[in-house]
Amino acid sequence: MLLDLIFPTRCLSCDTIIPSNSILCENCEEQLSYTHFKFDSENILTQKAKLLFPVEKAFALFYFKDENLAQKLIHGLKYGNQQFIGKHLAQCIHDRIKLNEIDEIISVPLHEKKLKQRGYNQLTLFGNTLSKLYNIPVNHQFLKRNSHDKAQAQKDKTHREETKSVFSSQSSQDSKHILLIDDVFTTGNTLSSIAWEILSKNPNYRISILVIAID
Ligand SMILES: [Zn+2]
Repeated sequence: MLLDLIFPTRCLSCDTIIPSNSILCENCEEQLSYTHFKFDSENILTQKAKLLFPVEKAFALFYFKDENLAQKLIHGLKYGNQQFIGKHLAQCIHDRIKLNEIDEIISVPLHEKKLKQRGYNQLTLFGNTLSKLYNIPVNHQFLKRNSHDKAQAQKDKTHREETKSVFSSQSSQDSKHILLIDDVFTTGNTLSSIAWEILSKNPNYRISILVIAID
């Protein structure tokens, strides 16, 4: 309480003082570009993803546009050491959708080098909060982003090497419906290469996706 007086919580966008459990003031909150998607197989994200890999359902919280507030939030989450944004957005998602039938949440890993530079993966607290709110286990170790040695990359600059899968996944014969989580869906290339990698090692898995924003 005393801390709230000395260091009041401020709106991440306009700096107005706000209640300590918020990240934006009411005015800025209204500017957020919510998709109003349901977690289903009909929305535009599912349709886009389906062109690339087999996907059951998909959800995005925001539309991502240059300079919009969603972009600002994600930027703060990824590069600004503001992991609490991920926690807040997970709560926001929980207020909006049900995650029926999901057995496990799987996060997209960062390259080890990036993880070291940044000090955290922006999806960790986001995923942990989703896991807690929905009571679904989260697995941050399921996928690995293989390190690409620079010298090696220059040596084998063939197309084949460049498109080689940069992710590897654990494998099992179980049947599971997993939820892949990532920050932004742009071309879908990352999630696509992950999905195919997972399906090659886990033929009985079904995949749905959840992203913070769709570009
Ligand atoms: Zn504001």
